[in-house]
Amino acid sequence: MTGTGPAEALTAEALTAEAGPAGARPTLVLVFQRAGLPWVFEAAERAGIDLVLVPRPDEEVRADRLPPGVVELLPLDPDGDRAGALELLRARHAARPFQGITTLYDPMVPFVAEAAELLGLPGIGHDTALGAQDKRLMRERLAAAGLNVPGFVRIEGPDPEPGLAAAGRLGFPVVVKPAHGYSSLGVTRADSPAALRDVVAEVRRVCAEKLDDPAAALVVEEYLDGPEFAVESLAYGGEVRVLSVGYKGEPVGPYFEESVYRAPDTLPAAVREAVVREVTAAHAALGIGEGPTHTELRLRGGHTPYLLEMGARIGGSGASHYVASHVSGTDLAAEALRIAVGGAPSSSAAGGLAAPVGAAANYIVPCGGHGRITAVHGLDEVRADPRVDHVVQMLFPGDVVRPYPDFTGYPAFVLSRHDSPAEAAEFHARLERTVRVEYAGTGGE
Ligand code: ADP
Repeated sequence: MTGTGPAEALTAEALTAEAGPAGARPTLVLVFQRAGLPWVFEAAERAGIDLVLVPRPDEEVRADRLPPGVVELLPLDPDGDRAGALELLRARHAARPFQGITTLYDPMVPFVAEAAELLGLPGIGHDTALGAQDKRLMRERLAAAGLNVPGFVRIEGPDPEPGLAAAGRLGFPVVVKPAHGYSSLGVTRADSPAALRDVVAEVRRVCAEKLDDPAAALVVEEYLDGPEFAVESLAYGGEVRVLSVGYKGEPVGPYFEESVYRAPDTLPAAVREAVVREVTAAHAALGIGEGPTHTELRLRGGHTPYLLEMGARIGGSGASHYVASHVSGTDLAAEALRIAVGGAPSSSAAGGLAAPVGAAANYIVPCGGHGRITAVHGLDEVRADPRVDHVVQMLFPGDVVRPYPDFTGYPAFVLSRHDSPAEAAEFHARLERTVRVEYAGTGGE
């Protein structure tokens, strides 16, 4: 990341200095939120909270065209200069105190927790944040609490051989993934001990190229056979309110592209209860008693929940707010921001599953190939559908999609509201037929 040193930070502050002192409104630093994704920004306005946005390194946010709720830009480089970024936050806090710091971007969750600890602001603490973000720690902490965990092995350090030998004794197939991965980056299935060595080398290559970390620690874990679900929750005072449980398809690999998200689920009541119990217990095992979480899990054998991950943040860069708020009637993003500045949520904080009040869905348009995009067909018709609230397009004609296991990003998300999960499923079946990315050639750049 470049161009976000102290000088730029001061310039940005100067640019927005006329915003003046914060007055009675709480101020929250929001780290690396994409400016074009509206949910968390609009939530800040609803919650009466001013945002100081730390822009993403790959995005230029103009000071004269700030997203809703944002009163100031504060460029920081926590990836390149963690200590420098913490020092800038400390100086900004000393000059004009803010009441909290948060992020929806998973790799930043530990940094944000560390900054909050340093400045005495609300947060889950650095160690807890690491436990949710580092897949090795998460697996170990869940196992120590007696929760469902597949067999797993770490591969780390300069010599992969001991890890490879231990992983060869797991039940196959297995899944290899970076310990600090996100967006399924590098996550790859290996079907036999013989294939494992090559898969590990391939995941290492993705880590070197995409995470800039050739020596990245990896986790190898047993493949969990069964449908996938996402669970959106809000914790407060140690109580975990589960706002929605939604179906996420059943990707089988070898690479794991996201496809659909439909909530509420249509599970038998006993299985749903097992999901809510497992997710609630995982909050306790990982020590997350405050704030939003996004959990992904699989139902092994179709009935037993095994966590894939629990992020101590709102999921999907805010798309989880859209789903959870329409399904539960609770304003997840506004509540999360209130908690982040040390306030209390304004809705029920009682534990357990909220009764669904509607259905919502997210269709993730698959890349469906690779090469230079010439057209994305079908989105205009989708935009005109009254059930569709947002079409978030991220890839456009001219963009190049690289072949898996590299991850370029998703072409578009379609967020919609429905009368029932069945109607949402019908809608998604139609999108599968009508929305299509066209390429000039394969693999070309
Ligand atoms: P990331 O944080 O990079 O998204 P995850 O651990 O969530 O990594 O894995 C991404 C996807 O890969 C999951 O959503 C799931 O579909 C698949 N996956 C990961 N681990 C397993 C596993 N042990 N068994 C089956 N599928 C898995």
